[in-house]
Amino acid sequence: MTSSARPILNRRLAEFGTTIFAEMSALAATTGSINLGQGFPDTDGPEEIREAAVRALRDGRGNQYPPGPGVPELRTAIAAHQQRRYGLTYDPDTEVLVTAGATEAIAASLLALVEPGDEVVALEPYYDSYAACVAMAGGRRVPVTLRPHDGAFRLDLDELRAAVTDRTRLLLINTPHNPTGTVLTREELSAIAELAVERDLLVVTDEVYEHLVFDDAVHVPLATLPGMRERTVTISSAGKTYSYTGWKVGWVTAPPALVTAVRAAKQFLTYVSAGPFQYAVAEALNLPEDYFTALREDLRAKRDLLAAGLEKAGFAVFRPAGTYFITADIRPLGESDGFAFCRSLPERAGVVAIPNAVFYDHREEGAPFVRFAFCKRHQTLREAAERLAGLRHG
Ligand code: PMP
Ligand code: GLN
Repeated sequence: MTSSARPILNRRLAEFGTTIFAEMSALAATTGSINLGQGFPDTDGPEEIREAAVRALRDGRGNQYPPGPGVPELRTAIAAHQQRRYGLTYDPDTEVLVTAGATEAIAASLLALVEPGDEVVALEPYYDSYAACVAMAGGRRVPVTLRPHDGAFRLDLDELRAAVTDRTRLLLINTPHNPTGTVLTREELSAIAELAVERDLLVVTDEVYEHLVFDDAVHVPLATLPGMRERTVTISSAGKTYSYTGWKVGWVTAPPALVTAVRAAKQFLTYVSAGPFQYAVAEALNLPEDYFTALREDLRAKRDLLAAGLEKAGFAVFRPAGTYFITADIRPLGESDGFAFCRSLPERAGVVAIPNAVFYDHREEGAPFVRFAFCKRHQTLREAAERLAGLRHG
């Protein structure tokens, strides 16, 4: 322990304490509350995929360091998935990189591509690790705020254009978007693409919720748009799609020069991870289309169940087009501070939610919004809705 007055945690990370997800999951555990905070399903994914992981462990596949870029079976399955779904062709040997979840893919991309002082434009509210990783890379984050408009949080394209300066290195885009549930439209994405081409920017796109879109929403990968494949690092992960968030298998697809750069950082973060799980995820990616349809249908029903419960309890609900999160406005309940609301909710109602303000630089913009995860059993969601219904007269 140093005796100087110098803080132990360095300046780059000083503003980042414990993540809100860890804080709120701990609160749920100590208060015995229903945890609709951190986004993880309360039932495991497909049995045959778990069995595939067990088989890999038993057969000694992946029990020692897998290859740095990921096992060939998984890289091939990732490339086949991008081709089949989106018509995007990637070479499994030079254009695919397996990472420790999307989290490492984001960190490695930013550490590899951002010079100190570079500006990174990201949609606000933003997933919490973006700000921390931009800071670790020595970059400066420039948020562009999504604002409520006709029942959804929308991007103002003029604001986005105005946020780009000569110091902008990359756009960090997330669609389907956590925490708002917005799925950017083809028109919005085309405008982003035109801007990236015009200003010669790199784009890092976090598409971990690519399969979780509802009703008539369609997920369009930015890399499919004109001029984008060569400048885009596309990130996804098995956690959400297969309901195994603890396995931490993610990936990057990008042209060779970008993959090589991201790998340069990644190899000194974890080097490799999740050996046997990589084989299981390769099988998961090859599941027939029915799997994805059933997953979406199940989550859509859960969304509707929780949305109805929240509305009945008095919240104003932003019905998400994608992800497994609902953002709700607490002002109709006579509240305005999402932080205070979420900290008191376990005691008042036995439910845990996340204050959206943590995902904002402009905290006041996010203050009245809170996020509920609906990737839980129907019974759990019904119980949570009943508990929340007591708030008004609590
Ligand atoms: N990006 C977003 C938008 C997320 O919501 C999450 C996690 N829930 C991640 C990245 C991290 O994914 P992983 O668990 O694969 O690291
Ligand atoms: N992505 C998950 C969420 O938004 C949490 C993952 C984490 O705890 N880092 O809830």
